[in-house]
Formats: sequence, C-alpha cells, structure tokens
Amino acid sequence: MSSSRPTLLLSVDYEDWHQLVRRRIGASNWHQPGPALARQTDALLALFDELHARATFFVLGMAARAHPELLDRIVAAGHEIGCHGDAHLPVHAQSPQEFAADLRAARATIEQLTGRTPVGYRAPAFSITKASDWAYGVLAEEGFAYDASQHDSPALRDRAVPATATPHRLELDGGGGGNGLWEFPVAVWHAGRAGGIRIPIGGASYWQVLPTPLVLKGLSEAGPLAGLYLHPNELDPEPLHALLPSDATAAQRAHAKLREAQRNGARRRAPGVLRAIAQRFELIPYGEAYARLDGSA
Ligand SMILES: [Zn+2]
Repeated sequence: MSSSRPTLLLSVDYEDWHQLVRRRIGASNWHQPGPALARQTDALLALFDELHARATFFVLGMAARAHPELLDRIVAAGHEIGCHGDAHLPVHAQSPQEFAADLRAARATIEQLTGRTPVGYRAPAFSITKASDWAYGVLAEEGFAYDASQHDSPALRDRAVPATATPHRLELDGGGGGNGLWEFPVAVWHAGRAGGIRIPIGGASYWQVLPTPLVLKGLSEAGPLAGLYLHPNELDPEPLHALLPSDATAAQRAHAKLREAQRNGARRRAPGVLRAIAQRFELIPYGEAYARLDGSA
C-alpha cells in the first residue's frame, strides 16, 4: 500500500449491542449473549481484510465473557486488543476505586481469553468528564500506556477537552505512576469561521447523516493520527432487532424500537463510508501509533 497517504487510527468499541440495549430498557434477559455479535465480528474482520486495515478492538469485559470464542479470531487476524472496561458504566458515575476494579475485571477477562494484556483504553460513551479526570491517573497506575477517550464533540456534556487535537502526553497530577499516559483524541473537524464549529466525524454513528465527501474533507483537516471508531452493530449484515423476553412491557418494546431505528441508520452507511476513507487514508491500530510516538518522544 502507498505510504504517502495520511494516517488515521482505526478502532472498534467491541461490545454486544443486544446486552446494552436490553439493560438500558430494563429487560430481564439483558446479560444473556445477544444473537448477532458473531456475525458482526465476521463482517468487521472481512471488511478490514478487504481494506488491508488493522484496528484496535477496545473489548468490553462483559461482552467477551458472553462470547468467549470470538476474541481469538480478532487476535488471529492481526488486530490489537484494547480495553473498553468491564460493565459499560459511565466513568463519571464511578468512584476511582470502582473504576480501578472495573479495569481489572476487564483486563482479567481479556488476559484469560487471549493471553494478552491490553495497554490502551477507551471509556464507555467517552464518559471521562472534566470532573472525573482523575481517571487518567488511575489508568496510568493500572499500567495502561494510552487513553483514546477524549472526544471534543458538542454532544458530550462536561467533556474533557483535548489539549491538542493530535496525540500527546497527558500531564498527570502526582505523576500517576509508571511512564505517564498518552492521549489519542477522536477525530473532530473544526470547521467554519476560525474553526469555531466542531463537527464530530470520527464515529460511524455520525456518518449516517453526513455526505461522504464531507466526512473525507473533515478527516483531512482533523489533524494527523486522528481516531475513528466503529461498533460491531454498525457492520451487521442484518437489521438489528432487540429480542426482548416475553415479560417485556409495551413501554420497553417501544423504547427498543427507537433504539433499533437509530442504530439501523448507521448500519446502512458505515461500510461504504469506511471504504471511501480507506482509499484516502492509511488505517492503523492505536498501539502502532503509540509505539512510533513513545519511541520518539
Ligand atoms: Zn461502548
């Protein structure tokens, strides 16, 4: 592949949509493995193979335990395994002790299933806020090398704003232990007059409403090594359907229908937009960028 193309970082927040949507609406069967993650994983791996792209899979511990056979396929295809925490609860809703316990639970599951220790972290729903920026110190103390959770999207309230749009070392109070922590922000297009309009373009959920040429223009102006993120459900070859238990209420069924409609919109657009991005950009895992930068810093 040409090395003249600019480079972006490719990631997957590797989770089971069925578990998460059922928990969100309070369905009694939420913890059971969903029926679609295996076929979604097949679709992701096939598309990345077609595009000669490798990615970081930020693995959610509870999804990995529900589908213990799937991680081997991801590792065998040459992708990096990162950590998406264990229970997918917002970081800002946890204490530092609870956050550390969640990291350890996820890491234990990932190590047991893959024999690999993840060094990168992505917070559930980018939920490290200004008030919970103690999380970076916990990540460093727990041995993580980089965080990929800063996302300067107007949709995120009280978000921790990246000091710069490009990868950088975080200044940690008290040093944080270890060798510090690198931050790899999600791609955001600072558009409009003086760059005053922030358009989140790194996530496939936004690609459903943005024309592909605008996504490409935004990414070309987002800065080197900006981050992209997908979810397995966005590559699902079949429509998403929440499969609720027989005791689900009418309100739960209505809520599930709304969630399905939102996610099915992103699902239709994601593969085509990623193909267009891959023609224009080299796509690499976060760990590869970290190895380049940490060695040179
Ligand atoms: Zn997630």
